[in-house]
Amino acid sequence: MPSSPPIPAKKRVLSGMRSTGKLHLGNYVGALANWVKLQDTHDCFFFIADWHALTTDYADPSEVNVNVDEVALDWLAAGLDPDKCVMFVQSHVLQHAELHLLFSMITPLGWLERVPTYKDQQQNLSGKDLTTYGFLGYPLLMAADILIYKADFVPVGEDQVVHIELTREIARRFNNFYAQKNPLLPEPQPLLTKTPKLPGTDGRKMSKSYDNYILLSDSEADIRKKLKTMVTDPARVKRTDPGNPDLCPVGDLHKIFSDAKTLENVYAGCRTAGIGCIECKGWAADNLIKTIAPMQERRREYQQKNVVREIVAAGDAKARSVAEATMKQVREVMGLSHSISPASAGATARQK
Ligand code: SF4
Repeated sequence: MPSSPPIPAKKRVLSGMRSTGKLHLGNYVGALANWVKLQDTHDCFFFIADWHALTTDYADPSEVNVNVDEVALDWLAAGLDPDKCVMFVQSHVLQHAELHLLFSMITPLGWLERVPTYKDQQQNLSGKDLTTYGFLGYPLLMAADILIYKADFVPVGEDQVVHIELTREIARRFNNFYAQKNPLLPEPQPLLTKTPKLPGTDGRKMSKSYDNYILLSDSEADIRKKLKTMVTDPARVKRTDPGNPDLCPVGDLHKIFSDAKTLENVYAGCRTAGIGCIECKGWAADNLIKTIAPMQERRREYQQKNVVREIVAAGDAKARSVAEATMKQVREVMGLSHSISPASAGATARQK
């Protein structure tokens, strides 16, 4: 009987999210919705980046644990399935820290200082002292997070490509020093993901730091209240002024969450001043609430079953075994595999 051709192994994807507590629509639209699709087609490892959260929030770690729980719960609510992907917590896999340390031996300082987000973030978060070693080194920790799983792809937006490029440089440098014949750390590729624009209620990028967000777990009443104060096309000063949904943050929400018929009514009504913004925002709220209702239902179910920590612990164990396998190879090629075998330990004891 002819043997069937081997099924090609799925390509590995690695991505993480900082543990900043309950997730908002921006987190969902910008990353999570894509991860939910990727788990069906790729071998996915998703981690909650609690160490990364500490690079900027080191002064007050009081929320770290609860934030990890909230992120895990929102991931499950959004549709990540622990049977299809590995979801784990970064600080539960200590091997990341070991690889980060070893990478720090071989990484020229200039490579880290020139990462554009280093200076940008320092300016954006000027209320925090970010002149720390941990903050400078966070792209290197990111490289360790990725390379320890030998990931093929990392889903990123355009602004993150520079981090993947640094990761690739680190992998090349490592392989050049220690594994020239058989490169040990594969260079990952960015998986560029086009995500729709999702502004916050003030029209700027949705973000916790701007306090302009709508949480995936917000109640219906809260969502309607937040949308009521959302900025609109500034051309619509009076109810009789026509507007343009393409210049309105509420229009952006409709494009993501509303059905074709509603969208048609929004364009027609807004451009002719046939509808008011209050009515239009009501439609946006209806469609948004309808989209996230199944997520909120799943959130309640997982909460009631009280299984989130158990699910994460199982993911931690899977991640740890892959990470440890890589670290064994890394230690070997870096001359760090010296150990006393049981036989030689016995011989040493007899000599005494
Ligand atoms: S009608 Fe809707 S799309 Fe048009 S400006 Fe008002 S809120 Fe925005």
